[in-house]
Amino acid sequence: MDTILVVNAGSSSVKFQIFAVDANARLDRVLKGQVDGIGSRPRLRATRASGETLADRAYPVEAIMDVPAALAVASSWLREELRITPLAVGHRVVHGGPDYAKPVAVDHGVVTRLERFEPLAPLHQRHNLAPIKSLLANYPALPQVACFDTAFHRRHDAVADSYAIPYRLYEEGVRRYGFHGLSYEYIARALPTLAPDVAGGRVIVAHLGSGASMCALRAGRSIESTMGFTALDGLAMGTRPGQLDPGVVLYLIMAKGMSPDEVQTFLYRDCGLKGLSGASNDMRELLVSHDPHAAFSVEYFVYRIGLFAGFLAAALEGLDAFVFTAGIGENSDAIRTRIGDRLKWLGVSLDETENARNALKISRPDSGIPVYVIPTDEERMIAEHTVSLLWTARSHANSERAS
Ligand code: AMP
Repeated sequence: MDTILVVNAGSSSVKFQIFAVDANARLDRVLKGQVDGIGSRPRLRATRASGETLADRAYPVEAIMDVPAALAVASSWLREELRITPLAVGHRVVHGGPDYAKPVAVDHGVVTRLERFEPLAPLHQRHNLAPIKSLLANYPALPQVACFDTAFHRRHDAVADSYAIPYRLYEEGVRRYGFHGLSYEYIARALPTLAPDVAGGRVIVAHLGSGASMCALRAGRSIESTMGFTALDGLAMGTRPGQLDPGVVLYLIMAKGMSPDEVQTFLYRDCGLKGLSGASNDMRELLVSHDPHAAFSVEYFVYRIGLFAGFLAAALEGLDAFVFTAGIGENSDAIRTRIGDRLKWLGVSLDETENARNALKISRPDSGIPVYVIPTDEERMIAEHTVSLLWTARSHANSERAS
């Protein structure tokens, strides 16, 4: 069985998936796993695509102190116990900076360029790059592909891609990139099959997970996003504030005496739903809590989604459909109902029975625009990109050999 390994590495966990690939580049998910608790209480867990448990085992802390060690444990488990040796590895890399508008085959030069974007995604980029570097060192012949959260948005018009600051900063890379691009790309590719009537039109996709953003699609292409230079902008998220007057950052530094590092930690870890509720970043907990701060944090989350729907509808000059995706978007009918109420001015009217069962189409037949719930699949998108670059490289090699 030919397989592709997909890796999504964070600071304390490495998530991975295996896809089987056939001669026609068709992909079939085989398993999902993760090594979490890196440097604290490491644990390898994996399930087959059917949900059946394949592994759940704890390791001593010194066995898995960093991301490369976590990947090494996962790789040897795959190789030695499941006899899986992947043809190639696709990685999620948050930031492709101004350089990368599509996935790229990785070599040392690419890694060096991607390291330059570490300050643009301080909590993610270096962890995303760690497994790439360790595989490059240990398996230099193994094809690796980097897939970026920013790439899908790289064709935004200059007005959408810019801040009103001197142009030299734009040239340096200070731009409104947008994120969650692999998720939006997956949805854009799914729309012609799932919602053919609107796929060519103006669609807002709301990716509502622990990170949250919204994207404006015109004919399947991203034209605007609620996120910008970093993944801090736009909607309120689990622990990030979303849109914030830069004056607040100046105040924290100048009046409160916070260091840049403290401000960074504060903005990435202590704000959003967690900061507002003072209790949790988990929407499930907030929805059942009786604490008024928890209720307010949910109200704020919903309110800002409504506001940004207006922003994106203006960018699209109208709206033909609205799509919910990611953890909250796919699973919480209560949040969708509340957002639906905020979108009434756009003609939205939800069918509560269909909404309650997380149906594909959750709007009433007489709704001004249709509303959909589409589960996202960023890992499949990464696997597709990886196979496509691998096949292209092979056909180049074959044609060079033939000529
Ligand atoms: P993600 O980052 O896409 O995995 O989404 C994580 C977020 O989805 C967390 O805030 C979860 O609380 C939220 N979530 C998952 N399932 C539900 C649910 N049934 N109701 C409300 N929120 C949910």
